[in-house]
Amino acid sequence: MKLFDVYPINNINIVKAEGSWVWDNKGTKYLDMYGGHAVISIGHIHPHWVKRIEEQLHKIAFYSNSVEIPIQKELAAKLGEVSGKKEYQLFLCNSGAEANENAMKLASFHTGRKKIVAFSKAFHGRTSLAVAATDNKNIVAPVNETDNIVFLPFNDEQALKEYFKNHGDKVAAVIIEAIQGVGGITVATDNFLRIIRNLCTEYGAVFIADEVQCGYGRTGKFFAADWAGVEADIYTMAKGMGNGFPVGGIFIAPHIKPKHGMLGTTFGGAHLACVASLAVLEVIDKEELMQNADEQGKYLMNMLKEMESLQNIRGKGLMIGFDVPDELKEVRKILLKEQHVFTGEAKPSVVRLLPALSIKKNEIDEFLNKLQLVIDEIKTSALISDLHNAE
Ligand code: PMP
Repeated sequence: MKLFDVYPINNINIVKAEGSWVWDNKGTKYLDMYGGHAVISIGHIHPHWVKRIEEQLHKIAFYSNSVEIPIQKELAAKLGEVSGKKEYQLFLCNSGAEANENAMKLASFHTGRKKIVAFSKAFHGRTSLAVAATDNKNIVAPVNETDNIVFLPFNDEQALKEYFKNHGDKVAAVIIEAIQGVGGITVATDNFLRIIRNLCTEYGAVFIADEVQCGYGRTGKFFAADWAGVEADIYTMAKGMGNGFPVGGIFIAPHIKPKHGMLGTTFGGAHLACVASLAVLEVIDKEELMQNADEQGKYLMNMLKEMESLQNIRGKGLMIGFDVPDELKEVRKILLKEQHVFTGEAKPSVVRLLPALSIKKNEIDEFLNKLQLVIDEIKTSALISDLHNAE
């Protein structure tokens, strides 16, 4: 059997990982500034995470949600403590799309309404509602198309107010990434998030913060929306939650009441998934990784701003993006091939940095040196080819 060929892949076979580093099967060492797509929060193969999962494996890995699973309550308590949102309720699932799917469904159950407001360049996942709320026609199948989702321009306060004025009584939810990831690291203004909060309260709609990529400590606070001093009604999470173990979840504000059978999943909240998530939170707490994300993120951002050729350096904490001019469009490819550094991208010309929250200053310095080398190399070869052309 062949694999269903949907991913444009690099010809690299990663066989080993530790902290912010990975190794291929030929022994080449790579610096991971991409965190395996923002998934690696506490560093690859963290010993505490390995130990916790290993211990659990010898007890029980899975039993269905039809029995008591005390470790789910333990996880909820720890999440409340680390996030500061103790009064919220937790529903566990397996991925970011599933978290958003459940959040939007819950908002509709709660309000009895159908309209969801999403924003230009949003990415919320690939399942039915999540993909319908994703602003990329190429990944929306005909069966996913629905009039229930309305796209408004990101950060456009006037357009949002106008929409609520005319249709506010039909809106079940507004869903937004406080920092768009796939869309190219675009930061929502604090004021925009506050206006969403106020309009949702005024019209009885549900404010959903999609924190799948920007949340879980990545920006230096637990949720990126925390920077604006607003509280969402539902927060969705996944990527960093299990440090590679597939886990997703949603925080649900106390005024949204549960009913048996309203939501459900076979795998969500399994023993093994909970232990992986608990291990992540324990490390975030003990090693003060949110503080590290804040400090190292500021350092990285400031150093990038010193580099002449990069444009529009933006983001927060360890979620950073910048544009590269056309002459440097090969920079990511060369960084990977010659300097062995993984970075992320957003089309057409954004480089996305999403390293582990545990990254160290010397690793950032190594990245910056390698980036400068690649930029210099591209510029020198462009100069040489210009000279040849002039001859
Ligand atoms: N929301 C956001 C903001 C994301 O970045 C992603 C994944 N890139 C998702 C949702 C979907 O997550 P998953 O791939 O785990 O379904």
